[in-house]
Parts: sequence; structure tokens; C-alpha cells
Amino acid sequence: MNMKEYIEEAESALLHTYNRYQIVWDKGDGVYMYDMEGKKYLDFVSGIAVFALGYNNKAYNDALKAQIDKVIHTSNYYYNVPAIEAAKKLQKISGMDRVFFTNSGAEAVEGAIKAARKYAYLKDGTTDHEIIAMEHSFHGRTMGALSVTGNPKYREAFQPMIGNIKFAQMNDFDSVLAQVTDKTCAIMFETVQGEGGIYPATEEFLKKVKALCEERDILLILDEIQCGMGRTGYMYAWQRYGVKPDIMTTAKALGCGIPVGAFLMTEKVAQNSLTAGDHGTTYGGNPLACAAISKVIDLFEEQKVLENVNEVGAYLAGKLDELVVKYDVVKAHRGVGLMQGLECEIPVSEIINKAIEKGLLLINAGTQIIRFIPSLIITKEHVDDMMKILEECLAEVSK
Ligand SMILES: *Cc1c(COP(=O)(O)O)cnc(C)c1O
Repeated sequence: MNMKEYIEEAESALLHTYNRYQIVWDKGDGVYMYDMEGKKYLDFVSGIAVFALGYNNKAYNDALKAQIDKVIHTSNYYYNVPAIEAAKKLQKISGMDRVFFTNSGAEAVEGAIKAARKYAYLKDGTTDHEIIAMEHSFHGRTMGALSVTGNPKYREAFQPMIGNIKFAQMNDFDSVLAQVTDKTCAIMFETVQGEGGIYPATEEFLKKVKALCEERDILLILDEIQCGMGRTGYMYAWQRYGVKPDIMTTAKALGCGIPVGAFLMTEKVAQNSLTAGDHGTTYGGNPLACAAISKVIDLFEEQKVLENVNEVGAYLAGKLDELVVKYDVVKAHRGVGLMQGLECEIPVSEIINKAIEKGLLLINAGTQIIRFIPSLIITKEHVDDMMKILEECLAEVSK
């Protein structure tokens, strides 16, 4: 079958919940993807901030193959060595105390919400606690995660959501304060909003919310699913300002392609929230997924990934700044490390389609923002190659 025939097959069998680009992938290597007709693409999407270490990373692949030959799955009724190792390494890179492994980001968010509600329940025995989330946030598609996602379009058809969720404005402390009541059990947001358009939480906002949480015994939940795992130049984005959350979610690049996530908490929350029987998962923390996490964390250190993010991220940011000056269609640039956004005056779909034709993968965040979330091992030369194609596209749409 050729690519077109495969796409017809796909559209006759898969539920149509995505308007997909007309590409069927064959393989990936480093920062490049190849479609089944052999066309090569420079990838600045990395499977939506997943493939941090690049495609076809030999050390990673070998670790997974070795684990497959031992055991892929056991059950959470027993211990397994990869899960123990992965949990200890996660403790070390995050500074958090307790880990629960999930299979996705949304499930990590679900767990975080349950932990916060249980914490509040144990304090006062009531069950009408409130969570404050942010407008324009994205936390996933399950009912709980959707309930805290500040995008009414995603929520509308699926009402009712879980109850007692309030929304405030990211980086507007007064808007948060206005929603706080004595029923507030958690305040949650992405340390850098991803899908919402690459909006980093400011240091001031983080610190004020943290102080408020401490004062009122409210839990701070930071969603690090997209911005975590080195993307901002820190293993977790909050580490930049030292504003430690009570509960944190991580996924995407955590497994670098193996579907896995986790929620982590401080010892204080762990001792006063979820306990045996409160939460569970069949697959979560299985040996294959945890062998992936464990290897990913090792490779981050061995390959000096954070240094590369800081260096190449700054270089990319500088280049994107130039575009704001040079092209009228480019309105603004913002971002941290290798999580950058370019806000345009026009819907960016045309720019992205042109880039794909020219062998460059880009993705949007909202209709007017191009998002740059490449693998964390890209070089300045890759940035130059990307910029050359992007500028061609910008020149064409500017005509
Ligand atoms: C992708 C994402 C999620 C959801 O993760 P899934 O693995 O798709 O369920 C949650 N929060 C943020 C910030 C994300 O970027």
C-alpha cells in the first residue's frame, strides 16, 4: 500500500478525533523523521515534547530490549527492580519524596487531584473542597483533567465536569486570591503553559501563590508534563525559581516514547493523603515503562542534556527574537529553553503546512502561535536549518 492508501485505511477504521497531517511515518533517527515514501523531515515537534533524547537512541533502545527479554509486566501487587530504580532517580532529580507511576499525563493529573482532595478531606472530614486552576491551561482529556482545563471548547459537550473547580488568570495573583475560600484545597497550573500558547509563570506569581498556599495550608500542584524533564534547562521548570510544589505531575519526555507518567508529592502530603486501597493502576509503573524512565534519567546526565538546552535554547530564542523585528506577520516571541512560541498575526496553519512541504515539522499552540518543542539534543546547526525553512515560509505568507 502507498501512503495515500494507508491514510484511506486509517480514516475508515480510526475514530476521527484528530485532523491529521497527511503523513504516514516510517521511522525516526536523531532529530529527523522519515515518512513511508522516504521523505526526510527535520523535527521541531518531537512527538509533542516527548522524544527528548532523539529518535533511535541506541543506549535507550538497548535498555528497553534487555528489559523486554526479562519481563515486561508484573503487577503492582509485587515489587519490581526497574520501578524501584526509576522512583529513586525521580526522587533525586525532582527533590520530591514519593512517586506514583501512571500510564499518561492525564492520569497523573487525576492522581494529583485525588491526593489533594483526600488531603483536605482528612483535615476537616468534608467533601466540598475546591480547586483553583487557570484559564488557557491544558491538563488532559479525562474527565478530571478536563475539569481543570481552562478551555471551555474542550469541556462544553461533556458537562457536567467534576465539581468545585474555579478558574483564575495565570500570572495574575489577585485573580487567584479572588477565588480562594476556606474550601480551597489546591491551586494548580502548568509552570509553563504549553497548549495554551507558551506562557511561563513569572517568578513573582509563583512565589506569591506559594506563600498563599503555605499560609492557608492549600496544596500547590504544578503540572510539569510538558515543561518538565529538562525542557526549560532545569529538570523541572519550577527549579528555576526554587518554588517547590506540594504535588507535581510529569509525563511526556519522562519515558521518551514509552507511555508513562507520574505524580509526585512531598512527604507531608504523602503522610496525609492517599493510602493503601485509595488509588491504583494495572500497568502503571510496570518494568518496561520504568526501565525506560530509568535509562532516560541516566542519559540526561551522561549526554549533558541540560547544558545543551541552555545553550541551544538561548540561541533559538535569539533567532526567534529577530523574526519579530523582521516580519510584520510575527507579533511576539516568548518561551524558556527549548520550549518557545512565536505568536503571529495570522492563523499559523498555512505557515506550518508550508514548512511540512519543505521538510520541517512544526506544531501550533492555539491558532496563532507556532510552538518549538524539539528534541533536547538538537544543535545550533539544526536551529539554523530550521530557521532557513521557517524564514522562507514567513516570506511567502508575507507577500
Ligand atoms: C500533554 C499534557 C497533558 C496530558 O498528557 P497525556 O499524556 O496526553 O494524557 C497534561 N498536562 C500538560 C501540561 C500537557 O502538556
